Amino acid sequence: MSKLSEVEITRAIVDTYMNSLLDNLELDVAVAGGGPAGLTAARELALRGHKVALFDRKLSPGGGMWGGGMGFNVIVVQEEGRSILEELGVRTSLYSPGYYTASSVESITTLIAEACRAGVSLFNLFSVEDVMVDLDRIAGVVVTSSPIEIAGLHVDPVCFSAKYVIEATGHPLEVLHTVIEKTVLHSVLLLAA
Ligand SMILES: Cc1cc2nc3c(=O)[nH]c(=O)nc-3n(C[C@H](O)[C@H](O)[C@H](O)COP(=O)(O)OP(=O)(O)OC[C@H]3O[C@@H](n4cnc5c(N)ncnc54)[C@H](O)[C@@H]3O)c2cc1C
Repeated sequence: MSKLSEVEITRAIVDTYMNSLLDNLELDVAVAGGGPAGLTAARELALRGHKVALFDRKLSPGGGMWGGGMGFNVIVVQEEGRSILEELGVRTSLYSPGYYTASSVESITTLIAEACRAGVSLFNLFSVEDVMVDLDRIAGVVVTSSPIEIAGLHVDPVCFSAKYVIEATGHPLEVLHTVIEKTVLHSVLLLAA
């Protein structure tokens, strides 16, 4: 077996990544946010045969689940959450009637792995900053690289079309706020016209 050079290893990374990127420009479903909600929704849809990509701003998807409570890496779930975790093979323990504990790290790593195995294309370090609109429908997401966003660089984003967009950015509801702002602005412009 011949040893790959540094350039050949780089070619393997760039080639594979770019093919994945190109393959995902037209989606059935774009999921904004890779916390437990986004990962679960993306996995379920991919298992049903839909072409799904998930975009998360962070290097490590998983959202707020990693830290349990105050960094104590344990989560507490009720029956509905437990059934999802157990379906994926995550161990849970009954704590009191109707309430179960689980390792937050085991839970989130499994949710990420199972979403990938189901066929979800996961793009970390991608921030959804806007939505594409086609007449009166949301038609995809406008994304930028998180390091570009953090640096505040004036760089154009790129677009992924999607028949459906799922808002799963957690408490900030960033995509929903963008849609509301766009809708209000559109209404104001219509009134002004
Ligand atoms: C203040 C606070 C209150 C909480 N309250 C509750 C509660 O009442 N009940 C409960 O069960 N849990 C609660 N939690 C715990 C836990 O955070 C959530 O239950 C759980 O993480 C929510 O999952 P989620 O997938 O909806 O969102 P999150 O876990 O927050 O995941 C959102 C993901 O979206 C990504 N993201 C955000 N914006 C963008 C963007 N523009 N583009 C791309 N990616 C983006 C983030 O990087 C993150 O990975 C709370 C946590 C906090 C900090």
